[in-house]
Amino acid sequence: MDSVGVAAAAPDAGPGPAWQSKCPWGAPNTTSISCSLADVMSEQLAKELQLEEENAAFPEVVAAAEGPFITGENIDTSSDLMLAQMLQMEFDREYDAQLRREEKKINGDSKVSISFENYRKVHPYDSDSSEDEVDWQDTRHDPYRADKPTTTPKRGFIGKGKDITTKHDEVVCGRKNTARMENFAPEFQVGDGIGMDLKLSNQVFNALKQHAYSEERRSARLHEKKEHSTAEKAVDPKTRLLLYKMVNSGMLETITGCISTGKESVVFHAYGGKSATEDKVIPPECAIKVFKTTLNEFKNRDKYIKDDYRFKDRFSKLNPRKIIRMWAEKEMHNLTRMQNAGIPCPQVVILKKHVLVMSFIGQDQVPAPKLKDVTLSNEDMKKAYYQILNMMQQLYRECNLVHADLSEYNMLWHDGKVWLIDVSQSVEPTHPHGLEFLFRDCRNVSQFFQKGGVAEALNERELFNAVSGLNITADNEVDFQAEIEALEKMNEDHVQNHGKKLSTFSSDGDPPIYDE
Ligand code: ADP
Ligand code: MN
Repeated sequence: MDSVGVAAAAPDAGPGPAWQSKCPWGAPNTTSISCSLADVMSEQLAKELQLEEENAAFPEVVAAAEGPFITGENIDTSSDLMLAQMLQMEFDREYDAQLRREEKKINGDSKVSISFENYRKVHPYDSDSSEDEVDWQDTRHDPYRADKPTTTPKRGFIGKGKDITTKHDEVVCGRKNTARMENFAPEFQVGDGIGMDLKLSNQVFNALKQHAYSEERRSARLHEKKEHSTAEKAVDPKTRLLLYKMVNSGMLETITGCISTGKESVVFHAYGGKSATEDKVIPPECAIKVFKTTLNEFKNRDKYIKDDYRFKDRFSKLNPRKIIRMWAEKEMHNLTRMQNAGIPCPQVVILKKHVLVMSFIGQDQVPAPKLKDVTLSNEDMKKAYYQILNMMQQLYRECNLVHADLSEYNMLWHDGKVWLIDVSQSVEPTHPHGLEFLFRDCRNVSQFFQKGGVAEALNERELFNAVSGLNITADNEVDFQAEIEALEKMNEDHVQNHGKKLSTFSSDGDPPIYDE
């Protein structure tokens, strides 16, 4: 395949004459892409080995993938699925553009015009254009589970009804092949045939395509980037595409790898790139939180969001995929509130569907340790405690939020202070279960610091009162919780009767703000 004459496009051939000569591919001896024999040999060897391996694993799939390059609408999916989708998207765009050119050319100034509308591509991958598109194939199916590779079903025709055109239609096919050349890597020179009404035979096109692909793989090996390795495996193809676009746009420099895979999210580290707008600065290091969920996990969490009046109107109309996005949206809003109150927390960079990019807490790819994983001196421990007490009060009063999952797992120790993270489930205090969540947070914090030897640490009931400003006097947990639930109920009744929430639960007189 190294003998394919791609050199027709060599710049010195000049425009025009090369295409008018008998062989549109020019003289083979001007080959501009050097490719050693050893290279080709090893390429083939690698491919053979890979095929052998795949053959053993998925005999039926390989049989299809090995077929001829052009089989109707079929594209080569034996390589990375994402790459294929990117290529397909690009192809579709170019193909449509080409179609428009053809249409214009044929119609000219004629009063009667024909439309190529039926030939236009409608592809499932580019989801940016629609607000309503399906992000996850089907939530009954876990999108994070690795799939056996599948191949696109072959279709030997395009168009509908009497407009049907089979793949064998020589003119259409030839033009399509010419248009398809635009999908080759940018550095692969295809000459200026694309703008012309040039019809490439399948044979010529396939040879070119094969060469273009092997060139592409060759250069990919040379410039292999990390975002194509680690990060890809943990997310589904659509998320991968989103991440890929972030890198492609330059917003992120590289995605280096996965920091955490939890039940509900996967977090990646990335180096920030350049922002498209000048007023925004991308932090040098970013954390990318990808919200994932199966129907099960979403069920476990829906009590947080379902009763959150901020999202209430929208909840009922939504499908699970949209609710996943709402988690991301909620985390973004909550982080922004915290940022505005000056609470140490990640800074939001951008939200794209279910993917939230924020500043990275940590340095040089090493995330700051969770409070549960650091051993602090007695002094730091005490400092951390008072800081958290303060932050809980700020969160409640200034941000009108209850963390709702506060514990040593969601607090990071960085730069000599505590940073709060993981606020997608945070709710406003008037949430029907808001005070219960707050009480649980208080219990976690009290227990952690009491065990950690901070003698000053309030017990959970004292902490609850100190944060909320409420004055619940019960001296045992059962009564205390009963009072909390009574307050929540009172608020709900108020909502029923007056159609709105009480602004806060705050009793008269501001409770003391604890300072160290
Ligand atoms: P989950 O819901 O999966 O617990 P988290 O937001 O807590 O999601 O993130 C999981 C882990 O990822 C955290 O425990 C932390 O180690 C890491 N992490 C998340 N966000 C950041 C960030 N902005 N900077 C550094 N590490 C982070
Ligand atoms: Mn967490």
